[in-house]
This record gives sequence, structure tokens and C-alpha cells, in this order.
Amino acid sequence: MKMKKCFFVLVIFLSVFSNMAAANNQQALRVVTSFSILENLVAELGGNHVEIKNLVGRNSDAHIYQPKPSDAVAISNADLVIMNGLAFEGWIARLMDNNGYSKKRLVASQGVQTLMTDDDIDPHAWQSFQNIKIYINNISQALIELKPEYKNEFSQRNQVLMQKVIDLQQALWQKINAIPKNKRVVVTSHDAFAYLGREFDIQFIAPVGFNTDSKPTASDVAKLIDQIKSQAIKALFVENISNPRLLAQIASETDAVIGGNLYSDALSEMTGPAPTYLEMMRYNIESIVAALTGQEVL
Ligand SMILES: [Zn+2]
Repeated sequence: MKMKKCFFVLVIFLSVFSNMAAANNQQALRVVTSFSILENLVAELGGNHVEIKNLVGRNSDAHIYQPKPSDAVAISNADLVIMNGLAFEGWIARLMDNNGYSKKRLVASQGVQTLMTDDDIDPHAWQSFQNIKIYINNISQALIELKPEYKNEFSQRNQVLMQKVIDLQQALWQKINAIPKNKRVVVTSHDAFAYLGREFDIQFIAPVGFNTDSKPTASDVAKLIDQIKSQAIKALFVENISNPRLLAQIASETDAVIGGNLYSDALSEMTGPAPTYLEMMRYNIESIVAALTGQEVL
């Protein structure tokens, strides 16, 4: 009986508390983002004027995400749903349609110069500073459209983030430019860095059979080892969503070093090396530079 009463009091307390919290920020725009990189950009650009519910969390794979019942609730309550588009997260359009979502939808990648992988558009467009500037402007524009009363603050936040992007882009360019172009060859397990490669003249090789949702065969591994040897490839990277054991095995049979994780489709935890978009880009490129120049791997 005593336990029950305690529980009841706790429920009342929690519901009053959460109502108070909501009342404090009832003017905030309720934004749903599909994955952690968009969540970070919206937080930077929206400040206190947005209340974000992100669906695919840090260190998680949006390609194969299975929506939860709470995601449908979040979408039903949203004023704005922001997704990458380019067929990265096909499930979110279905989620919106199935729940009769009729408010604003933003495809953050709208207007980027896309790349193809075989017959499909490569969705990983955020792996490029040129592209992320377009994402940033698209997001700011949507926020201003929905909350014009905060236009000045949104514009100011846009300028601050844009300047950080430009500064980081220039600093990283200097580091990459110190490496001859023909030495900029990197093997990754998931074909997610074509945009980064285009921007920084880095050749990323993601061998057949090594993507995140299939198991490479013994012959795939043998072919890759031959390729690493014949092209004198120095750097091998695994992603936060791939199986690192396999690449360790390859590295032990070649001269290549395992360069740690590159973050492609998700940010790290807040305590990890890639807690924000900018930190992710810095960490990835500095890791690549370190591995290619034989420095201590980060
Ligand atoms: Zn991916």
C-alpha cells in the first residue's frame, strides 16, 4: 500500500513537472530529425527556439533503421520534419505518410551536387563542406519560415556556424595539401566517403563484399589483400557501424595500418571523438592525414 501511494505521488509529480517544462518552452518549434548529424546542425542553428526529437541516435545506422512506435508519436507532434533525402532514410517518408503528417517537411540535402554509386545516387552528401553549407542554409531558411519572429537570431546563428565551417575547411585543406595526391588512397569498409574524396582529392576504396550489411567471403578478403599490396595502400579505416575484426585480420597480412574509426553516418557519443558535425570532420580528416603520413594514429 505504501509503495503504491509513493508511486502515485511520483506519477503526479512527474506529470506536473513535465507539464511545467513544456510550458516553459511552449513557443519552441517541435522539430524531428532523422539522424544525429541533422540533430546537431538544427541544435546549432535553432538554439532555444527548437525542441528536437532525433530518431536514429549516435553510433547507429540509419540505412537499416526500424522505426519505433514512439517515432510515430514524435512525427505526429512535430511542426517540422527534417531528413537527409537522396534515399538515405526511405523509412521516414513512409512514417510521415502512414501517420498523416501534413506539416512542413525539409529535405536538408536539397540543392547539393550529387554523386552516383553504380546506378544510385550516393546519399552521404553531408561528408563535404561545400554540401553542408547548403544543408545549413536550407535548415536556417525553414526555421525562419516557421518562426519569422526569430529571424535575426537564426541568421546570426547561421553566420556563426558557417564561419566555423569555412575556418575548419581551410585548416584541413592545408593538412591534406601537404600529402601528394597519388598517396591519398584510403580503404574503408563502407562506401560513404565519395563526397569527401571529391572535395579533398582522396581516393577511397570500399571493396566489393565489404559494405556494412554483408559478410565478405574468403575470396573477397584475398582480393583486397592483393589490391592493398599492389597499390601500396597504407591506411585502412573501419567505421563505427562496421565489423572491425575483419580489417584487423587484413592489416596483419599487409603493410597497411588500421587507422581507427572514421565516422560516416552517425556522430559518436558526446564523450567520443566526433560529438558534433565539425568535430566529426576534423577527426576524420586528421585521422586520414595521420595514417597516410605514418604518424601516430589518433
Ligand atoms: Zn551510409
